[in-house]
Amino acid sequence: MSSFDYDLFVIGGGSGGVRAARLTAGLGKRVAIAEEYRYGGTCVIRGCVPKKLFVYASQFPEQFEDSAGYGWTVGEARFDWQKLMMAKDREIARLEGLYRKGLETAGAEMLNTRAELTGPHSVRLVDSGKVVTAERILVAVGGSANPHAALPGYEHCITSNEAFHLETLPDSILIAGGGYIAVEFANIFHGLGVQTTLIYRGMQILSRFDHDMRQGLHEAMEAKGIRIILQDIIEEVTRTPAGGLLARTLHNETIAVDQVMLALGRDPNTSGLGLEAAGVAVNERGAIIVDDFSRTNVESIFAVGDVTDKVQLTPVAIHESMCFVETQYRGNPTSPDHHLIATAVFSQPEIGTVGLSEEDAAKKYPDIEVYRAQFRPMKATLSGRAERMIMKLIVNAGDRKVVGAHILGHDAGEMAQLLGITLKAGCTKEDFDRTMAVHPTAAEELVTMYTPSYRIRNGERV
Ligand SMILES: Cc1cc2nc3c(=O)[nH]c(=O)nc-3n(C[C@H](O)[C@H](O)[C@H](O)COP(=O)(O)OP(=O)(O)OC[C@H]3O[C@@H](n4cnc5c(N)ncnc54)[C@H](O)[C@@H]3O)c2cc1C
Repeated sequence: MSSFDYDLFVIGGGSGGVRAARLTAGLGKRVAIAEEYRYGGTCVIRGCVPKKLFVYASQFPEQFEDSAGYGWTVGEARFDWQKLMMAKDREIARLEGLYRKGLETAGAEMLNTRAELTGPHSVRLVDSGKVVTAERILVAVGGSANPHAALPGYEHCITSNEAFHLETLPDSILIAGGGYIAVEFANIFHGLGVQTTLIYRGMQILSRFDHDMRQGLHEAMEAKGIRIILQDIIEEVTRTPAGGLLARTLHNETIAVDQVMLALGRDPNTSGLGLEAAGVAVNERGAIIVDDFSRTNVESIFAVGDVTDKVQLTPVAIHESMCFVETQYRGNPTSPDHHLIATAVFSQPEIGTVGLSEEDAAKKYPDIEVYRAQFRPMKATLSGRAERMIMKLIVNAGDRKVVGAHILGHDAGEMAQLLGITLKAGCTKEDFDRTMAVHPTAAEELVTMYTPSYRIRNGERV
């Protein structure tokens, strides 16, 4: 038995930390995990899960409207924000309980405290001041919304954290940001009846996504009534005597709203973590630098998830932890695979995507084929909703492999998961072509786009 208190000490009880602690404890190792807030972390407590519940809540008004075309008469619909909040909180408490139970059953010691590094093998438990030692330390402390403290009046604004706990639903909201969190919340609030404006400094929302997805979603959101302001930023937020907020923009527009939400990026939770004491290197953003095996520059300290300089998604944090356990405790060196991560934006309509955008594929390959379909989904025919789905496959003409797949429309996230398997397996366009369609579905379009819409050769569309 080693002279350390634990074989593994995990800092942070979120997606990555809980998985690593549970698996390692399950192997009979002495494991402790410290969480300063609630087990489950960002994803369960104030990220993916409550967000998706809000997305579902915000979709009903359109469904009530659509039902009329199918013969339904729905009575007056009323929405109760408090009821949704209570139901959401109950579900999150249930999930947190499951996380705790999993750790307990596996035999991990749960410590409800902040923990900070004091050396390569030691951690201080902030609540008690006690210092404990471990052979290995896994840092899985995640990230937090950037408060944007340089913005005058930032203290009047909320982030996604507070959006999950608003006492009342605002009548109007201004959301700053063009990333997926800003876009998703704009759709959530709009769907719940809030007059919603999105402001983003870039030329188009959702940079790094395929341009058809960005443009298509932008148009769909505006058609619903969400105002989108591009190439502008909030310069100042002030509170009016009546309690409302005034946001002044760079281009001198003054927007009066009940709430301003800042969704301007997330910072790794490394401040005050004791990384200097332990000698752990970070990048210019404060994110922990790790190698292909989640190792930091200090031999005994590892890091996974949002605190690192890699991809910030729940399945990625979990996967990195599983690889860490495989490598360190099962004698099977396994490097996390960050290639071809399928992902979704839970906007309305949704985006589901995997692989390269048309722009990136055109930069990478000298000759690509683009298969593109834009159509009205069947459900919209009787409902009368003016809605278009877009599906795109990007094919490297050199080896015929599908290198990008992008969908805008209902259930795009669900489809992206399955498309992810095909791209990962290296399927060619011909594999798609010889796959029988499932009829009638929207997804059948993916296997019936036989002729390229256009090609891009050496960066030129032909
Ligand atoms: C609004 C929102 C929506 C999102 N939606 C999605 C989505 O749809 N799909 C998706 O894949 N990802 C989504 N994400 C991202 C996802 O939540 C994160 O990628 C994921 O939670 C990262 O896991 P992690 O283990 O690295 O960190 P976290 O889950 O953030 O866990 C870190 C934990 O460490 C704790 N902690 C921090 N410092 C200390 C300390 N010193 N001592 C003890 N405990 C500490 C924190 O309280 C936290 O519980 C979303 C995020 C947000 C904010």
